[in-house]
Amino acid sequence: MELPGRRGEALLGELETRVRAVVRASSWWERHGVDCAILALSLLALPAGFLCLRSGNVLVFALGIIILGVCHYTLTVKGSHLATHGALTESKRWSKIWALFFVEVCTAFTAEYANYGHVKMHHAYTNVLGLGDSSTWRLPYLNRYVYMFLAPFLIPIVTPLVAVERLRKMEPAVALRSLGLISLGLCSHYWLLMNVSGCTSPGSALACMFITRSLLAHPYLHVNIFQHIGLPMFSLDTKPQRIHMMSLGVLNLPRLPVLDWAFGHSIISCHVEHHLFPRLSDNMCLKVKPVVSQFLQEKQLPYNEDSYLARFRLFLSRYEEFMVQAPPITELVGLQ
Ligand SMILES: [Zn+2]
Repeated sequence: MELPGRRGEALLGELETRVRAVVRASSWWERHGVDCAILALSLLALPAGFLCLRSGNVLVFALGIIILGVCHYTLTVKGSHLATHGALTESKRWSKIWALFFVEVCTAFTAEYANYGHVKMHHAYTNVLGLGDSSTWRLPYLNRYVYMFLAPFLIPIVTPLVAVERLRKMEPAVALRSLGLISLGLCSHYWLLMNVSGCTSPGSALACMFITRSLLAHPYLHVNIFQHIGLPMFSLDTKPQRIHMMSLGVLNLPRLPVLDWAFGHSIISCHVEHHLFPRLSDNMCLKVKPVVSQFLQEKQLPYNEDSYLARFRLFLSRYEEFMVQAPPITELVGLQ
């Protein structure tokens, strides 16, 4: 009789072969170019965004806020996420440089901890209680409406504070570098608002920083809980094989243009593909999606999909169960 562990490995191996064939047949532009171009466009659009804020016309001012907000999320969510996974380039050295730029300068977080929390814990132990269980997103003392509607506004303020708290546990040289790059990002954002956008007081510059940095904070927080919470949870000693872990514990949302652009396909409509192949860029995740979904269906493995609105309603109605109570462990016989 075939051992369940062996079967999981064999299935994953078979899927990897199919996906590798798609990757081999893809050009550099498909593998990295498309996503690098989106990030470059986001950087190039920044001057226009800062200049729009000079305008006395409300519509032009609002356009400036939207440009800066969307670019901020593209650089900090899509850019940081792909850079942390080393999905932007094949060069290790450049991956490291991009991670420092996107995570520390743009996001005001530490690249060291982003890598540890996201790649080493969340990806390696997806939905394993106490390790990669998305519990950092649980704030059980908040009620459902405060959490879903007001808590997202805290993200731009809490992010650098958490980073500073984490710095104390890091090597002094690394901590100093992170502190320098985070300060550089925040100070240059403030400086540009004062000197290019013509903000007349520190208060107005800080208000602009806050508004642009929280523009897409709501979908960002929501998507982070929708993707894993409420799905099967595992314990470390009975966690299933990788292919089962990702097929059971990860959910895809449908394509949503603004979020596809700002967060990336790997976070929105290809999260299952991303968890199975975390080093693929957003564009490649989209390209291999039909191969992965067809494979999982063919092998009668789950492929979780749900709409943003349906998840939103589900979380509001079952908030206690999903976000407050300790999640129950799903026992899976024969998948370990
Ligand atoms: Zn990831």
